[in-house]
Amino acid sequence: MRILIVEDEHRIATAIKKGLEQEGYAADVAYTGTEGYAFAVTEEYDLIILDLMLPGKDGITFCKELRGEKIHTPVLILTAKGQLHDKILGLDSGADDYLTKPFAFEELLARIRALIRRPKVTQSNVLVIEDLQLNTLSFETTRNNKPIFLSHKEFSLLEYLIRNAKKVLTKDQIIAHVWNYDADILPNTIEVYIRKLRNKVDLPFPKSRHLIQTVRGFGYKIGT
Ligand code: CA
Repeated sequence: MRILIVEDEHRIATAIKKGLEQEGYAADVAYTGTEGYAFAVTEEYDLIILDLMLPGKDGITFCKELRGEKIHTPVLILTAKGQLHDKILGLDSGADDYLTKPFAFEELLARIRALIRRPKVTQSNVLVIEDLQLNTLSFETTRNNKPIFLSHKEFSLLEYLIRNAKKVLTKDQIIAHVWNYDADILPNTIEVYIRKLRNKVDLPFPKSRHLIQTVRGFGYKIGT
């Protein structure tokens, strides 16, 4: 899952990015509203964390214009402005949630999880496909009730595949949702990660069906 942070206070932006990356998210930072907006309309994000008072383009305008462009990426407004009026203005401009600074990082994470799962069919932190289970809260992965140990990136890739189960995903889509903008990722890297995942998720379970499929010439999918 890939998140855009639009925040002009470098210290806060860096802390959030670091914290999110420790949780396995890919995160990009923009320090002005204008730069953030350019990212938001050209890149694919699963969530945007948006400050309100920003140079270039303020958060409210950002949100209104984004929705005007029919981009429905969930937006979490993060700002020092705690007054009711600002909250209403933010939510009315098309934001999905609102968190006031200072905040506890744990609360930010919980709100992110809620926003990312909101439009999905699964309303739980546990993603299931056949006998494979992924807990997005505890990072525990099991197949046929046996634990599987994944790196953060492997987990993120598997999570993205399962959230889009039965859809063919191109390498470009996978790169866009699992790695951040600065990451120097070649399509070959995806092949390497898919192989690593197969070695952990499919090969040790000969009695179960292979879940990760290669769709030649297009990309990958999980499930049939
Ligand atoms: Ca600010």
